[in-house]
Amino acid sequence: MSVHLTFCGGVRTVTGSMHLLEANGQRVIIDCGLFQGHREDFYRVNAQFPFNPGKLDAAVLSHSHIDHCGNLPNLTRSGFTGKVFVTSPTRDICRLMLLDSARIQEEDVKFVNKVNARKGLPSRPPLYSVEDAQKSLRKIRAVDYHKKFKLATAINCTFYDAGHILGSAIPYLEIIKTESGQRIKIAYAVDLGRKHMPFLQDPEILNDVDYLLLESTYGGRTHEPLAQAKLKLAEAINRTMARGGKVIIPSFALERTQEVVYYLGELLKEKKIKPLPIFVDSPLACNITDVFLKHSASFDLEAIRYIRDSQESKKLNFDKRPMVIISSSGMCESGRILHHLRNNIGNPLNTILVVGYMAKNTLGKRIVEKQRRVRIFGESFELKAEVEVINAFSAHADKNELADYVLRTKGKLKKIFIVHGDMDQSEALAFNLRSKGFRAYIPRKFETVTLD
Ligand SMILES: [Zn+2]
Ligand SMILES: [Zn+2]
Repeated sequence: MSVHLTFCGGVRTVTGSMHLLEANGQRVIIDCGLFQGHREDFYRVNAQFPFNPGKLDAAVLSHSHIDHCGNLPNLTRSGFTGKVFVTSPTRDICRLMLLDSARIQEEDVKFVNKVNARKGLPSRPPLYSVEDAQKSLRKIRAVDYHKKFKLATAINCTFYDAGHILGSAIPYLEIIKTESGQRIKIAYAVDLGRKHMPFLQDPEILNDVDYLLLESTYGGRTHEPLAQAKLKLAEAINRTMARGGKVIIPSFALERTQEVVYYLGELLKEKKIKPLPIFVDSPLACNITDVFLKHSASFDLEAIRYIRDSQESKKLNFDKRPMVIISSSGMCESGRILHHLRNNIGNPLNTILVVGYMAKNTLGKRIVEKQRRVRIFGESFELKAEVEVINAFSAHADKNELADYVLRTKGKLKKIFIVHGDMDQSEALAFNLRSKGFRAYIPRKFETVTLD
């Protein structure tokens, strides 16, 4: 019997990671991510699965970013009855991420249905509800790193540290072909982190890999050194403080917020920035920070005010002092960051400091592109604030780090499947790896390959 791998999402694009592995009559999926894009595409792509969820035996998740775990509630609602295997920090963060995502879906559909009602169009249900999210969370089982477990009959799995975010794993799958006893070993390095990041271990090198699935978010780009990024962060804050403005940092509630807080703490300690009010204004980021404190090293929280309450959040609009506001969502598509942008984007004294990846067609991307006018809550605003972009805080390995990782991976490495990247980045990485003698291949969405 042959082993098949189908690339169901997160190929030739960054979001929506999902891959189906079929072997010995068993079916498992690796990741069940949300595709992010325009509202219509979002519903169209995420609502349907290209397989019958009721026929899956199990699922494994690499980490708790929403583009890797975010469609799980929909999977269970569509008939999935198996277990979902993750590391324990991923279990804790998934709980927060999926409930938050469900609330966003419910809110968003309310808005859509209001518009639809005005146009005489039928209303529609949310992609999934809080209840769906709760049901899916009950299927999650946590397994420690380095502990081999049975994912399905004749498919074993071990989690290795991906060094990408807290709890992130490289699921290492070992498939035993029942009739021949042959073993096929697949490593899923999606997403792959970097060395020397705060709170994280370096990505682990694997010893015996036949097939490697590798992300390519930064397949053709290099990050500036972290020290330089820290300097840029300090300079942006000092410059804005001198003008009497505010620094608005759109940030992913997960990992990036905690990293920025960590670096701000360092800059304060090193006296590279003067003391100023720093707010983390995101209930989700506050809750995730608690998970960090449970699973990871402690970090200096004294200088930072954490805001959960929405009234307190609104008070920031009337506080005219220079300050730093870190708020989510990271790509400025939802959440409290929208209020802060609306209130501050038109003032040239302020700075919008971009510290994370902005996907195409997001407000964040339009800000990075410095478009003269942007729409927030359906209203047009002139972008007058300074825009500063720091890419080095990335949690993703860059071009050189990806190639280095492949060079250090041991085993037959029959083929490397390049996934999780915009096409130009995937192509750049494939080209680079081929020049080093590797067989690198960029699969198409829904393509099925046979592994032997
Ligand atoms: Zn990720
Ligand atoms: Zn990702």
